[in-house]
Amino acid sequence: MTQKILLTGGLGYIGSHTYVELIAAGYDVVIVDNLSNSKLSVCDRLAKITGQETSFIQADILDRSALSQIFAKDAFDAVIHFAGLKAVGESVEKPLDYMQVNVTGLVNILQEMQTANVNALVFSSSATVYDVSNVSPLKEGMPTGYTNPYGYTKLVCEQILAQATHANPELKTGILRYFNPAGAHSSGLIGEDPRDIPNNLMPYISRVASGEYEFVRIWGDDYPTPDGTGVRDYIHVDDLATGHVSSLHALLDKGESHLVNLGRGQGYSVMDVLNAYSRACGRELPHQILPRRAGDIAQMYADVEQAKQVLGFEVCRDMDAMCATSWNWINTGAKDG
Ligand code: NAD
Ligand code: UDP
Repeated sequence: MTQKILLTGGLGYIGSHTYVELIAAGYDVVIVDNLSNSKLSVCDRLAKITGQETSFIQADILDRSALSQIFAKDAFDAVIHFAGLKAVGESVEKPLDYMQVNVTGLVNILQEMQTANVNALVFSSSATVYDVSNVSPLKEGMPTGYTNPYGYTKLVCEQILAQATHANPELKTGILRYFNPAGAHSSGLIGEDPRDIPNNLMPYISRVASGEYEFVRIWGDDYPTPDGTGVRDYIHVDDLATGHVSSLHALLDKGESHLVNLGRGQGYSVMDVLNAYSRACGRELPHQILPRRAGDIAQMYADVEQAKQVLGFEVCRDMDAMCATSWNWINTGAKDG
């Protein structure tokens, strides 16, 4: 029988790409999103990509009665929980909002799952939960820590999941620590569309490519890295999406909880990303070197062995593919959205 999956935050950047992979893998999917950081038009675009109507409910994960109704209406086999707040800078200014949405939101989902006897959850965690003193490649067993309220909420959520599975051995969880998601779907119909000035590198570069901003601000070129600029592990969002399908397989077909990194296992410097984007858009993008950004570390990238062993997960797309699909999205889908 077709398995039914609840996707919270499914109209957002990672959720929408994961939806496409889930439909391709034969799952029946219901999206719940409050549209606080996404647009209703994504539903139509998902329908265009998948060739079937999108099942969407507009609701807030903080609204317990709405959640109960959602869980009462359908018998879900699993939940993939993307809904949450994710802006590091904003989290410093509004820590309580982050605790409420990210932490209380997860507890709400877990309690509703318990009532409805749903025992599989995939959770969006982040590489930000690694202590900054760890040396890359980062392995899942390394010490954790946090440097801002956003990171704190992700760490607390991981700990809540550990307590919940301890208390209920029936509950299986897939904790996925994302590295730096980038790129867009090859159709150009869905992608990353930040409302404010992007803090992250790739969306900022894309706005320089589109002419919206004048130049790329490179935060420091005096790091102990090959070219002096910061190194991160960028992963194509479609690869990240397939990681969720692999996680569901492990939970639903093998009954195995897991905590894994989802990255490429390879670092790219800011200059690498800028050069790749320049190739993708066909012109050299202007940049300026500025002082280091507060709180940044020189480099971080994933050890991907665990994801390979436990999930059989391997990436297919490189930095050129991330930049080419991002540019395609900026030039097509993002414009008339
Ligand atoms: P996103 O903002 O694009 O998607 C999140 C979606 O959740 C949005 O559509 C938003 O409208 C919805 N949402 C927010 N609060 C909600 C609420 N209270 N009730 C219902 N829906 C709500 O973000 P994303 O980049 O797709 O990230 C998805 C998840 O992955 C988040 O939990 C984020 O913390 C995590 N993550 C993201 C990154 C990244 O760089 N994008 C890295 C690591 C982890
Ligand atoms: N970065 C940059 N200019 C920007 C945004 C980011 O030079 O406008 C650098 C940043 O210093 C880091 C890398 O790009 O070395 C990735 O930053 P991002 O904020 O995208 O991810 P994170 O630091 O959270 O991993």
